[in-house]
Amino acid sequence: MIIRSRIVVPMVGGPIENGAVAIAGNKIVEVARFEEVKARHSGEVFDLGERVLLPGLINAHCHLDYTMLRGKIPPPSSFADWIQAINAEKASLSAKDYVASIKEGFVEAQGFGTTTIANLTAFPELIAEINEPIRTWWFGELIDVRTPDRAESIVDLAVESLKSAKHWGLAPHAPFTASARLYARCEEIARRENARLTTHLAESHEEMQMFRDGNGPAFEFLKSIGRPMDDCGNETPLSFLIRRQEIDERWIIAHLNELTDSDFDLLARAAKFHIAHCPRSHTFLGHAPFNLKKLRALGFNVCLGTDSLASNSSLSLLSEMREFQRKAPEVAPREILEMATVHGARALGQAEALGIIAPGFFADLIAIPFAQSRADIFDAIIAFEGQVPWMMLDGRALNLA
Ligand SMILES: [Zn+2]
Repeated sequence: MIIRSRIVVPMVGGPIENGAVAIAGNKIVEVARFEEVKARHSGEVFDLGERVLLPGLINAHCHLDYTMLRGKIPPPSSFADWIQAINAEKASLSAKDYVASIKEGFVEAQGFGTTTIANLTAFPELIAEINEPIRTWWFGELIDVRTPDRAESIVDLAVESLKSAKHWGLAPHAPFTASARLYARCEEIARRENARLTTHLAESHEEMQMFRDGNGPAFEFLKSIGRPMDDCGNETPLSFLIRRQEIDERWIIAHLNELTDSDFDLLARAAKFHIAHCPRSHTFLGHAPFNLKKLRALGFNVCLGTDSLASNSSLSLLSEMREFQRKAPEVAPREILEMATVHGARALGQAEALGIIAPGFFADLIAIPFAQSRADIFDAIIAFEGQVPWMMLDGRALNLA
């Protein structure tokens, strides 16, 4: 099959006017100008008309569990308050509610052009009830702050459920809610099973206060629920984690908003893991500015996520790109789009399979209307609002609008 479009943006090389992609099964076999593709490949031609064809978007950090919390929690005065507000909302939810929430989230993410998602779930046992409509890496989100003596069994139990998923990984929640033992067990299993790992780190100022200064609202809250706090008061969250746990290219680290000069020194010497930045959640929670420039200069792969709807208003990665652009107008639009395609693919270990339109890659594509108004095609893509009308997933075409 040949798909023709006004412009094809493969995210490798330049945009192709009057471009086309030849597809065989679920893979891309060629991308070039329409005349060239047509001369070399037979089969049905599907003309997308005045549209821009690009790779499907990749969400590197999301919690579909909390899709139903949209609009429920106002911007909090403290990060500890926000965690407690989520916990209060969660108390009234059943397994059935979570299944509905995850399914609703998938539909929404797909409608906004997401073809691959890294989804953290606190309920791996529910995965078997869900038929995911897009490529999904299920990360079991694990916490042992109230039960540190059960760290290993918490991980092992989650892995039993996670193994029903096609792609899975482990997500020790954060150094303030997951013990060193829990991190170590996750790492051990991930190595054995060749799975990915993710965690939250250095997200808020209160986390910095807790680990470095041994005080503040997060410190007080975690102390009140019984976390032993004798590991606090010495070092930054980044230093705390990477001194205890090897963090390498297997890891996607979410956030890294709060980094000191000494943290950047540590990062310069550290293995180059992947970083998930969530621009709208970042704005909602009022975190310190995200330092893309420095992290990029040190060689980190920075990708984009939506985080959950407890701190965001939709699961649109295009909205994330616009928010990122608003806060960092100096970053080239092409690079912003790379964060939600090429970089996300790399973070999931799929640099040779997803995130660009090239021979041998999976046929995961989206098309949006072509807009003449912007000189830069990447800028025009980022400016597109609303539902993505057409998607191809694993070689199957879907009309979404
Ligand atoms: Zn998160």
